[in-house]
Amino acid sequence: MDTILVVNAGSSSVKFQIFAVEGEGALRRQVKGQMDGIGSRPRLRASGGTGDPLADRAYPIEAAADVPAAMAVAGAWLRDELNINPIAVGHRVVHGGPDYARPVLIDHAVVTRLERYISLAPLHQPHNLAPIRTLLSNFPTLPQVACFDTAFHRDHDALADHYAIPHQLHAEGVRRYGFHGLSYEYIAKRLPQVAPDIADGRMIVAHLGSGASMCAMKSGKSVESTMGFTALDGLAMGTRPGQLDPGVVLYLIAEKGMSASNVQNFLYRDCGLKGLSGVSNDMRELETSEDPRAAFAIDYFVYRIGLNAGMLAAALQGIDGFVFTAGIGENSVSIRARIAEKLAWLGVTLDPAENARHATRISRSDSRIPVYVVPTDEELMIAQHTLALIMNRQSPNQKRERVS
Ligand code: AMP
Repeated sequence: MDTILVVNAGSSSVKFQIFAVEGEGALRRQVKGQMDGIGSRPRLRASGGTGDPLADRAYPIEAAADVPAAMAVAGAWLRDELNINPIAVGHRVVHGGPDYARPVLIDHAVVTRLERYISLAPLHQPHNLAPIRTLLSNFPTLPQVACFDTAFHRDHDALADHYAIPHQLHAEGVRRYGFHGLSYEYIAKRLPQVAPDIADGRMIVAHLGSGASMCAMKSGKSVESTMGFTALDGLAMGTRPGQLDPGVVLYLIAEKGMSASNVQNFLYRDCGLKGLSGVSNDMRELETSEDPRAAFAIDYFVYRIGLNAGMLAAALQGIDGFVFTAGIGENSVSIRARIAEKLAWLGVTLDPAENARHATRISRSDSRIPVYVVPTDEELMIAQHTLALIMNRQSPNQKRERVS
């Protein structure tokens, strides 16, 4: 059976999934796995499509010293033990810069172009590109597709796409891109089934995971996002601060003597829920902590979501529905309830029983604004894009858009 491999490579872990291509392009998840502890204590864990365990094994550090080596270990396991030889590979690539408004078949020229965006996503882009390069040189005929977190937002109006800085910087690529686009695109595709009467309307979708953002959607298209140039902006996240006066960065440099890379590490790793609480970046731990700073961090998270919802409602000139997704949005009954309270002025009334049982629609039947919980599936989105592109192969140049 034909299969598609989906790869989501980070700095110390590579997540992968295998989808079987069934009749009429339908995709069935077959394997879900990850190599983590890359460069420290490599470990391969994998389960089947129904969650049945397939592998949990440790490797010596030299077997998976970096991301490409870890990919090779996972690839050998898939090939030798599961007899899986994918017909194509879809990659999550965080930044498509101004060029890519949709997924693209990868060749060397595309890789060179994507390398230009390393400075826009220094903690993600290099790791996303590493396995692409390795596969390109080891399996040059294997089709690979890059799917971008920024692409879904590329049709924003110029007003939403700009900062109030000289135009030259915008031309260079300093823009408000927005992220989590694969998640929002999946939700946009699900909405006609989940909420057919309003799917075409004005929706706010809250992707609340260890990274968090919200997207204003009109007729299933993104019109505004809480994230901007990098994935640091907007809501408070596990370890990122969200919206921050740039003056704070100047203060860190001038008064604290921090270098650019110190500031970068600080903003990506030490702020957000972790920095505020001093307890954890993990919402589950904060919810069970007795520490008042943990409670404060949760209050802050909820408060900022309420503020940003107001901003997105203004962008949409009103809303017709609200959607929760990702780890916190899909699982935390109490955070959803607290956010819903902040949305009461917009016309949201939650149904506590439906919320507690994680129903798809968690608002009361008389709530003016319906509220939904829709589990996201970025990997399925990547697999679908990959399959669509290889079935309809065009040259990468034809797929390239908005070359600045
Ligand atoms: P994600 O990045 O989408 O995997 O989401 C990770 C975040 O979801 C972490 O902050 C987790 O603590 C949080 N999360 C997952 N399950 C729950 C839960 N049952 N209650 C509260 N937070 C949760």
